[in-house]
Amino acid sequence: MPTYEYKCKDCGEKFDEVKKIEEYETKGVCPKCKSQNTQRVFNFASLFGARSDDSCGPARHT
Ligand SMILES: [Zn+2]
Repeated sequence: MPTYEYKCKDCGEKFDEVKKIEEYETKGVCPKCKSQNTQRVFNFASLFGARSDDSCGPARHT
């Protein structure tokens, strides 16, 4: 079953939800503030298995 990543628009929490294909369009519920004001974000790491996205992301050396 695919894992989808969501971001809560209310508190900014990011969370993953495992959904069936037919639930693909349903919104996730924030585990932190229980808001349904969430947005699905693409997470290729979860789509293609465990893979670090550090190699293709911007360097975060501060
Ligand atoms: Zn939230």
